[in-house]
Amino acid sequence: MLFTTKSLSTFFKQYKGDINRNTKILEVNTDSRKGIKNSLFIPIVGDNFDGHQFVKQAIAGGAIALLWDKTKELPEDIEEDIVVYFVEDTTKALQQLASYYRDEINPIVIGVTGSNGKTTTKDLVASITRAKYVTHSTKGNFNNQIGLPLTILSMQRDTEVLVLEMGMSGFLEIDLLSKIAKPNYAIITNIGESHIEFLGSREGIAKAKLEILNGLKENGTVIIDGDEALLDSLHGEPNVITCGFNRDNNQLIEKVNIDLTETTFMLEDVNYRIPLLGKHHAKNAAYAIVIGERLGIGVEERKRALLSADLTAMRFELIQGKKGVSIINDAYNASPTSMKAAIEVVKQMAGFKEKVLILGDVLELGTRAEELHQSVAEVIEAPITVLYTFGEHAKVISETVCTKGDIVSKHFHTKAALLDALDMYLNKDSLLLFKASRGLKFESLINEFI
Ligand code: ATP
Ligand code: MG
Repeated sequence: MLFTTKSLSTFFKQYKGDINRNTKILEVNTDSRKGIKNSLFIPIVGDNFDGHQFVKQAIAGGAIALLWDKTKELPEDIEEDIVVYFVEDTTKALQQLASYYRDEINPIVIGVTGSNGKTTTKDLVASITRAKYVTHSTKGNFNNQIGLPLTILSMQRDTEVLVLEMGMSGFLEIDLLSKIAKPNYAIITNIGESHIEFLGSREGIAKAKLEILNGLKENGTVIIDGDEALLDSLHGEPNVITCGFNRDNNQLIEKVNIDLTETTFMLEDVNYRIPLLGKHHAKNAAYAIVIGERLGIGVEERKRALLSADLTAMRFELIQGKKGVSIINDAYNASPTSMKAAIEVVKQMAGFKEKVLILGDVLELGTRAEELHQSVAEVIEAPITVLYTFGEHAKVISETVCTKGDIVSKHFHTKAALLDALDMYLNKDSLLLFKASRGLKFESLINEFI
């Protein structure tokens, strides 16, 4: 049970309806299409929609209480037994309610932000904390100003650890999320280039991620990418733990090895294995290990939890395709940083004669699109053998690589022509990496090969 109609009346003091029946509210819902029994419906006002229009549908679906913007007219035929709480702004009210509930339940809160690796880190942290604590965590990518409060409000009352992904596309968004969540632990996974069009520069991106400190609990701990120079100002602070590959980190990651199914590494003299491919994932795992250690979860339990982590689907998946070809499906999304990271992984993987990159556009880079796509070319070198690009911006990658010599480098204007060209690599000696922003729909290419 989340609340009762009576307990909510102490929070939202203006209301209509019989709170003395003290009905139980089991869930909070913002989507009237989801019929949720015994729920509190919160109508959200967006740019293109107004949830207040769907209140009847929400009630028909099982809502027993509502929030209502007091400047709007309440339909007269709302049933008598529905409790209506009047608020100034329904989105703010949702956030305030989440913040209140967070304090009431008072679990250990772990907030995860960063340009890349948030979902993966969130999943790895939750996998480790589950070994000892009742853990609730963000589902999928529910990481914004609506998704994060809803995640908090969907935790059960016995929750001991709450792991929250915090996403953003501009300044003051993480500030808001952190002040709602009040994390005991804040993780900054990395600083990349995502959303640079709104934040101006990598320095701007770092500043926006550091807003996670604004809501940090007193005595809270910050865990960061220690190899990122833009976070240097945090090194040496008593409540900061740095993780990374450079010697001066508090938690040193060494001996990274990547094979077809897993990455192995050593952290502070302990060997770990994770079912993810890539050096960057060793770092994501390191953040989770630090949390596990702080929360008293033993080495063997940490190791086991990492190996069996329940990871959100469609990221760096290795698939056996037609005629034994190995395919890496990393078509979930892309940023220049994650594209380079994925290429590094392909370079590190052993046992292939042909290493073929199929790269598409990274979207939302604004005026820096050309320069950032060009920067991807920097990491394309032997043992990569083939580079095929598709999309308006990705073209510059193959054009830049063309001038380097040994690599077969070509741009395609249609997916059909690209598929034809790939046909010759359908064999067991080839490894194909597909990577682009989601909008390029690279799944449609991969589906032809499996
Ligand atoms: P989103 O902004 O879409 O929520 P996210 O931050 O949750 O992304 P993930 O979904 O975990 O990130 O991973 C997205 C991509 O970033 C993957 O393709 C992965 O290869 C890459 N990636 C993951 N961790 C890191 C990291 N620490 N550094 C650089 N790249 C990373
Ligand atoms: Mg995510």
